[in-house]
Amino acid sequence: MKIMSPVNSLKSPRFSGIKTFMRLPYSEDVSGADFAVIGVPFDTGSTYRIGARFGPQAIRNISAILRSHHIKLDLSVFDYCSGVDYGDLPVNPGYIEDSYEEIEKNLLPIIEHGAIPILMGGDHSVTLPELRAIAKKHGPVALVQFDAHLDTGDEYFGKRYNHGTVFRRAVEENLIIPGHSIQVGIRGSVYSKEDLEGSRALGLELIPAFQCREIGLEKVIQRIHKRVGKQNVFVTFDIDFVDPAYAPGTGTIEVGGFTSWEALQVVGGLDGMNFVGFDLVEVLPAYDPVEITAALGATIMFEFISLIAMKNKRARK
Ligand code: MN
Ligand code: MN
Repeated sequence: MKIMSPVNSLKSPRFSGIKTFMRLPYSEDVSGADFAVIGVPFDTGSTYRIGARFGPQAIRNISAILRSHHIKLDLSVFDYCSGVDYGDLPVNPGYIEDSYEEIEKNLLPIIEHGAIPILMGGDHSVTLPELRAIAKKHGPVALVQFDAHLDTGDEYFGKRYNHGTVFRRAVEENLIIPGHSIQVGIRGSVYSKEDLEGSRALGLELIPAFQCREIGLEKVIQRIHKRVGKQNVFVTFDIDFVDPAYAPGTGTIEVGGFTSWEALQVVGGLDGMNFVGFDLVEVLPAYDPVEITAALGATIMFEFISLIAMKNKRARK
């Protein structure tokens, strides 16, 4: 039988070997896998700092620290799910629309095999072609977006595609169901009042960071569940949701954010949903000299895998 779990790190030390995510087997054959970790090393969609193209490499590298037993869930994750590191999708640096085509085209067969994609960016622009592939298989889905930013702008510098317009395009293209979608963690300053109103006008629910503080994370989690309901859901996690004190390595920092602990709690709180895909975006290693941002990204991805394991565990009972 094909092995689809990490190398035993008690037999071979974690600092050895070629780095795949969590020391999973590298394989483009996803048949039988519950999930596939997939890199999308593209950052031409960035409007500020660039370099997120090196995100997948940095996350893979530090992900060797992850072990398979989840303490809080008391769950040996790979007893309940299997997965591979698929490698990276092809992109064309500097050419966003060409890259979008490549990403969608190459992601679709993975989804059609039944593997839940766990993608790592790249800047947030990569989520649009991911959602295009997801919608081809599942139709429009609910979206849970953790982000300091709305990403529902219309145009930047006269162009329609970049990391700040993704979710407006996703609504326009009928890839997500606005009435079941929610944006969490928005903060800092925006260009104008219309930015926030624009998101609401698209039909998205929005919980800004200050409101998360007022109502507390438990209520935030409840509101996310209520919004998504039984729909198929795609979870997109922009690492800048987390405060730059914990996640400095990202393209567009916003202070006043969440702790790494809170990030893990809120992601773990999604347990029970009908997941069809996940991504973790905007890790920028050049601003992450001690690898804490990449380590957080890797750990959030481990939470995604744990959510899949919990779902499988429940289905087996
Ligand atoms: Mn974003
Ligand atoms: Mn952001």
